[in-house]
Amino acid sequence: MDDARLQAILEQITADAFAEPDKGRVANYIPQLAAIDANQFAIAIARPGRPTLTAGNADTRFSIQSVSKVFTLALALGTLGDRLWERVGREPSGQAFDSMVLLEQEKGRPRNPFINAGAIVTTDAVLSGAEPREALASILRFVRDAAADEDIHINDTVAASEIATGHRNFALAHYLLSHGNLMHPADLTLGTYFHQCAIEMTCAQLAHAGLFLTGCENAPRLVSHSRIRRINALMMTCGHYDGSGDYAYRVGLPGKSGVGGGILTIVPGRASVAVWAPGLNRYGNSKLGTEAMQSLTDLTGWSVFGAAPD
Ligand code: GLU
Repeated sequence: MDDARLQAILEQITADAFAEPDKGRVANYIPQLAAIDANQFAIAIARPGRPTLTAGNADTRFSIQSVSKVFTLALALGTLGDRLWERVGREPSGQAFDSMVLLEQEKGRPRNPFINAGAIVTTDAVLSGAEPREALASILRFVRDAAADEDIHINDTVAASEIATGHRNFALAHYLLSHGNLMHPADLTLGTYFHQCAIEMTCAQLAHAGLFLTGCENAPRLVSHSRIRRINALMMTCGHYDGSGDYAYRVGLPGKSGVGGGILTIVPGRASVAVWAPGLNRYGNSKLGTEAMQSLTDLTGWSVFGAAPD
């Protein structure tokens, strides 16, 4: 498909998103996110060596929240390798992102690295032997290198807002501590985790940051090809919490969502796509973002399960 056709598809998807009356509901448990205007939408497609295509509010920065868990996982696997799996599982949870039920049942070993409990353990692993600010610097370094862009920053106000109200995450961290699956005090690990979630990016920056997971020949080489396949597999099976099956069915590509309304989706061997619409569906994933990705994949035929549009 040529770029003019792809750009026209992005414009149409964006017009449809702005026209859709049901925008979903913005996350309200983090005060800074509750204040975001739901009437915003952006989409960006990045491909190595080819122009980045964008539509909508593609230059507006948003809080990437749990999309950051992909970068921290890649970093943790780089330093710990498979030892990470002694502390975190690799199965879909079928539960909400901040669920405590599974952690109780499974005695402090989170189901996967993308639910909050699993991401807190992954961040704790990145923190090993480092001060929180050094761990955060290495997470931010990884994201900037992935995006080939130094103009990516953490919003301290958003992090502070979550530190003040993140009671469930504190409960999860204390529960992990009680099972010996947290190596640092809860406030240190969570301080790092909340700041990593508060990284802000535009859709174009996020799409660029996902290129290393496409496995394309001239994409940034930050992890091995075998690890790219594994991270994509986890994104496909666990990247949308208890809506992961629904996203796989509708979109057919590995993706990771965040409660800021962003979704990073990887089209292996082809492209990295970022979409942002702040209103969420009942799973806590971007409502219009999911719908837009479904339209994009229907119109392009991009999928790991088949490759032709109807
Ligand atoms: N910082 C958010 C939390 O821990 C991230 C959740 C998400 O983006 O899904 O609650």
